[in-house]
Amino acid sequence: MIRSRFAPSPTGYLHIGGARTALFSWAYARKHGGQFILRIEDTDQERSTLESEQAILEGLKWLGLDWDEGPYYQMQRLERYREIAQRLIETGWAYYCYASREELEAMREAQRARGEKPRYDGRWRPEPGKQLPAPPPGVTPVIRFRNPTEGEITFHDLIKGHVTVANAELDDLVLMRADGIPTYNFGVVVDDWDMGITHVIRGDDHVNNTPRQINILKALGAPIPVYAHVPMILGHDGERLSKRHGAVSVLQYREDGYLPEALLNYLARLGWGHGDAEKFSVQEFIQWFDVADVSHAAARFDAAKLTWLNQQYIKEADAARLAELVRPFLARQGIVPDGGPDLTALMGLLKDRAATIEELADAAHIFFRQSLPTAEALREKLDAATVPALTALRTTLATVAWSPESLNQALKDCAKAHGLKLGQIGIPLRLLLFGTAQTPSLDVTLALLGREETLRRLAQAWPLLPGT
Ligand code: GLU
Repeated sequence: MIRSRFAPSPTGYLHIGGARTALFSWAYARKHGGQFILRIEDTDQERSTLESEQAILEGLKWLGLDWDEGPYYQMQRLERYREIAQRLIETGWAYYCYASREELEAMREAQRARGEKPRYDGRWRPEPGKQLPAPPPGVTPVIRFRNPTEGEITFHDLIKGHVTVANAELDDLVLMRADGIPTYNFGVVVDDWDMGITHVIRGDDHVNNTPRQINILKALGAPIPVYAHVPMILGHDGERLSKRHGAVSVLQYREDGYLPEALLNYLARLGWGHGDAEKFSVQEFIQWFDVADVSHAAARFDAAKLTWLNQQYIKEADAARLAELVRPFLARQGIVPDGGPDLTALMGLLKDRAATIEELADAAHIFFRQSLPTAEALREKLDAATVPALTALRTTLATVAWSPESLNQALKDCAKAHGLKLGQIGIPLRLLLFGTAQTPSLDVTLALLGREETLRRLAQAWPLLPGT
């Protein structure tokens, strides 16, 4: 049984990189009928916030990345880490270190001055025949891992291939801090073991931690999971993706009017592909995905491609769903879309041309609130024959059957009777009704707006016509 996990630290929002890691780890479990475990690594008490934790959970839920177990919280497992650290001390794999912060800083300072790489010098590390100093009174020690000094550690990363590190490169890392809270590396090891994780799929910023974690797992006699380190995501300029490149928080995309399936589809394409498939469902992704196919080069974030995908998904989306999604966006503009045109029908009309829900709201806005054109903009679109034609049309609109077909006929007849092209009355009519010439086809637009509202708007804008 495959068990993968996502182990975010609640020290910020769920960003694009984290969400992509979660997606790959989740998809791997789903593909193999395994389980996906969520673990909150909240041991950095200064930086962890409840707000961030909630944003992460909400982001995962919005994307549909459901978990089978958890969330587990590291801060609720302190007793367990203490127990395992104790066991390592008893088996000689760990030891107490009483060196103070100042002492360690002085040690590193001296190493740097000698041109050496700063590392713990093993002053409290027990060795056969070595006389350790007496523990200073009143000092609570940390617990350090007694890392092997010889040999090397090799693992086969599903994405990066073989990774080998000499043990001489690794110093005796702290497992437990003096305050009884585990370090990142120790918490991860105990948790991955306890939670039966078979596949650790995570960002490659952790690849250097893996040999240390493997050493601790070995000391515990625990099975070694399979590792896959996912390369990072770069912005369009080749720099590490950050706020400078626009939205990087998953929930910000929701705020900006993206559909979760579009973002998920886009995330899947960051460093992974299936032939030239750009748009695919999450089921297809699960079916096609293999973590071994993830590129070992960094992926580049392309906002335009995400927007393109979003547009495709909006075009296909159910109009009733879009109607629900657009409501909060309209509310931001102060519009409660009740009593106006039917919102679902309106979405059906507008969805072919919107890249985001926000754009849908902008396009819908004019159906709920009239904005008047400037007299000048209107005048530019008028010919000598237009005002009489519009006057006649206004009369016709009071009685014509209110369907797209008969409205279309009425517009055509009116243009013909006055020797005008359809656009010559269509454009000023749009300006009068909506304050803009950019609307979908007039027949359906008028049909949706309704007779009463159309006539009300015409009456409102009419004084802007010259000679009226
Ligand atoms: N908590 C770590 C992070 O957010 C992830 C650790 C892991 O996946 O092993 O970077």
